[in-house]
Amino acid sequence: MSAPTDLARADQLGFEQFVHSLAQHLRHTPFGWALVLGLSWGQAPLGPLLLWLGVFALVWLPSLWFIWRCGKRGPVLAQDRGVVYAVAALDGLGWGVVVWVLAGLSPVLDSWVLALLCGLAALSAVVYLTQLQAFRLYLGAMGLGLLACVLIRQVPDWRLAIAFGVFALLLLRLLQPVSARLEQGRLHEIGNESLAARLSDSLARKEVEAATDALTGLLNRRSLDALLQAGLSGPVPRQMALLMLDIDHFKQINDRHGHACGDAALRAFADRVRAQLRDGDHCARYGGEEFVVLLPGASRERAVEIAERLRLAVQGQPLLSQPLVDNTVSIGVSVVAPMDQPAHLLERADAALYRAKSEGRNRVCVA
Ligand code: GH3
Ligand code: MG
Ligand code: MG
Repeated sequence: MSAPTDLARADQLGFEQFVHSLAQHLRHTPFGWALVLGLSWGQAPLGPLLLWLGVFALVWLPSLWFIWRCGKRGPVLAQDRGVVYAVAALDGLGWGVVVWVLAGLSPVLDSWVLALLCGLAALSAVVYLTQLQAFRLYLGAMGLGLLACVLIRQVPDWRLAIAFGVFALLLLRLLQPVSARLEQGRLHEIGNESLAARLSDSLARKEVEAATDALTGLLNRRSLDALLQAGLSGPVPRQMALLMLDIDHFKQINDRHGHACGDAALRAFADRVRAQLRDGDHCARYGGEEFVVLLPGASRERAVEIAERLRLAVQGQPLLSQPLVDNTVSIGVSVVAPMDQPAHLLERADAALYRAKSEGRNRVCVA
């Protein structure tokens, strides 16, 4: 089952296709006029023929203009259907009325009129495939012109009117399954489009999830490894500094206030650090209450300066005020050396961090 919105969208799409092909179809109308003039030349009186052509052209011009403008601004089914269907009916009527001019002059011309109407109906079938309702109006108006002439003027032979009626009904019957198949195709297209959009959304979300730490929203260990690898993979490693941060006495937060409060403190800590970094610096949760900050392009002095700024930012204001959580941070600093692998940089920062802890915490030590 398709959702009602999908059905409405499929109807709208079908209408758009119809308006575009109707515009094309109407542009070809003068070829039909030329055909009528050419084939009836010398057999039908010129006056009525020209009158028919003039009136038809007067209706045709604004119709063409409306359909062209409607196609250009984007047809809207709910808004334009009425006028578009009226154009279809008038077009059909214009052709139906030609019977009044040509019928009754000769049996050949009578059969030719029938052939003309059937040919036009068959040619238009492709145009009206997505709007059978409009096609019924078009054929109905065409048949009306013919029938009125048969009833009022007794020409052409009424059997020709019946022949046209049978042809039109058969045509409509034939088009029905094709039109339904097209509608199904549009529904599938819409379904595929929305599925593709949902998949691409969910892929983008999964990519973000796979790269970030769920609790703090910082990069995770996997992203950190990739960044380190990328930074150190060139023939000459780029200048880069690494800070390893470990919240002091973090376990006490959990012990005193519970695990949820510990989580909130971790989030507050992450926000505090993030606020101190520039675009281009990276911060990752390394594990537990340990974090790594990567500073591309930073010298040892610059790295120590930033580490000190981070330490003061944590010390300067409690992580949480309710309950009061007022911890400090110890930081180990390492900078890239020739032939460094990611593990080397991490190990040196870890050793410096260990030193910062053993020297009394709340300090920055450099490897
Ligand atoms: P030190 O100053 O020596 O670093 O002491 P510490 O208490 O911070 O370090 P320790 O390694 O003894 O304890 C770390 C604690 O961090 C223990 C662990 O339960 C807690 N922890 C790790 N990950 C999480 C987490 O995701 N949420 C919470 N609430 N606690 C965590
Ligand atoms: Mg730790
Ligand atoms: Mg700790």
